[in-house]
Amino acid sequence: MPFSRQEYDAIVIGSGPNGLSAAITMAEARRSVLVIEGYEMIGGGARSAELTLPGFVHDVCSSVYPMGVWSPFFRRLPLAHYGLEWVHPSAPLAHPLDDGSAVIVDRSIEVTAQNLGEDADRYRRLMGSLTSAWPKLESSVQSPFSIPAHPFAAARFGLTVLRSASSVAKHDFRSERARALLAGLAAHAVLPLERIPSAAFGLVLGIIAHTQGWPFARSGSQNIPNALARHLASLGGEIVTDTPVESIEQIPRARAVLCDVTPRQLLKIAGSRLSASFRRTLDRYRYGPGVCKLDWALNGPIPWKAAECARAGTVHLGGTFEEIAASERDCWQGKHSERPFVLLSQPTLFDTTRAPAGKHTAWAYCHVPNGSTVDMTDAIEKQIERFAPGFRSLILKRSVRVAASLETYNPNLIGGDIGGGAADLEQFLLRPTRRLYRTSAKGIYLCSSSTPPGPGVHGLCGHLAARSALKDLF
Ligand SMILES: Cc1cc2nc3c(=O)[nH]c(=O)nc-3n(C[C@H](O)[C@H](O)[C@H](O)COP(=O)(O)OP(=O)(O)OC[C@H]3O[C@@H](n4cnc5c(N)ncnc54)[C@H](O)[C@@H]3O)c2cc1C
Repeated sequence: MPFSRQEYDAIVIGSGPNGLSAAITMAEARRSVLVIEGYEMIGGGARSAELTLPGFVHDVCSSVYPMGVWSPFFRRLPLAHYGLEWVHPSAPLAHPLDDGSAVIVDRSIEVTAQNLGEDADRYRRLMGSLTSAWPKLESSVQSPFSIPAHPFAAARFGLTVLRSASSVAKHDFRSERARALLAGLAAHAVLPLERIPSAAFGLVLGIIAHTQGWPFARSGSQNIPNALARHLASLGGEIVTDTPVESIEQIPRARAVLCDVTPRQLLKIAGSRLSASFRRTLDRYRYGPGVCKLDWALNGPIPWKAAECARAGTVHLGGTFEEIAASERDCWQGKHSERPFVLLSQPTLFDTTRAPAGKHTAWAYCHVPNGSTVDMTDAIEKQIERFAPGFRSLILKRSVRVAASLETYNPNLIGGDIGGGAADLEQFLLRPTRRLYRTSAKGIYLCSSSTPPGPGVHGLCGHLAARSALKDLF
């Protein structure tokens, strides 16, 4: 094995955003650290590659980074110095409707509210109060399960957001436009919209749209792990790639082993070191639906019926609240929706470095049952054509990844689940077990998105896991 030393203070298995963040936290505390990555490139869910034609850079997994630009951990790292530049579209989000109009989420709450007709005041009040409470709650995210610095603000915020999207749609809004917007935001939870806490995901993404934006990484998502890795190298950390860890016994000795993997892989890699009862608890951990992911090289920009959709980096395609809710229910019931809710991003409208002059890329996925091998190209492209007639005629080449193949690409994507496990009420905060980052074995930690605060590229799971290890062991 290509390791330069026999022993490290810490070893991180996996170089996703959380693995690299765990390693940086260890290195910042002057601990020797090695990251071991199974794939030929670092980055996990934040890699980019020429998936279609030469000169077209596509984000293989994640593409839009509300949690990345918000992350209090990323914000304090010198990532800009190491080549990461956030590119902000003119508006974070568009949600086209069948009448040919679109709801645009602008950075300004006021401008967004003006889009929402009779719900303008309700939107102003709801998002106004949540965005003003938000800064007070950031410290709680960095110290989950400690007493919040602002307990009343935290309680009020929790009561507002810890609901189902259908409850918020029913009680807080009247118009189809506002309800549709909420459905698209909440569908990022990959939960039926009738289930708690689907609204929390939607409302937090809405808050960040207004406070920090939903940017891309200039020239491709790969620049996020690349910047993290360069910072890690400056602190003396090491990385080896192309070295899948089959068993914890094959790696050099270390006081702390931080695993950027999901519970199912932890059982394979380190099961023999875990107690029987902890193994049983991990075994019960549940994964959610998968995704079918498409990328296109395009001969021109997407011809949206509602021209203002071209202002947005991300576009939600699914029309009404009811249609999106049906699509999200379907994938939990083992069905492939005929009209799936599609999340689409169009980075080249704002970043010309990703495609040859005048050409464009688009990125999209829809939710499907876990482990699905169904190619959803036709259903996804029909949804785009519905709001952008002529889209198909622009396609130069497409790349398709069905849910099952995503796991082959990155073993953390179990059955194509992009969230590291279902984020339902039970697994939302206490993930994957009540021990959070800790396991039953001294010195072995989980640091992936299967731990709080969960999915997304923000590095906080890794940072918080490493802080636990530093506290326990060093
Ligand atoms: C299609 C798709 C779209 C997404 N869209 C977004 C988005 O737009 N915005 C956003 O914020 N998030 C998005 N996400 C989610 C985001 O990518 C993840 O939440 C994030 O990458 C989790 O980071 P992580 O470090 O926990 O795990 P990962 O990024 O999955 O990294 C885990 C790493 O560990 C390695 N590994 C696993 N097992 C082993 C082993 N045994 N030995 C060695 N190495 C191993 C893997 O190869 C991988 O590099 C998306 C994900 C997918 C798949």
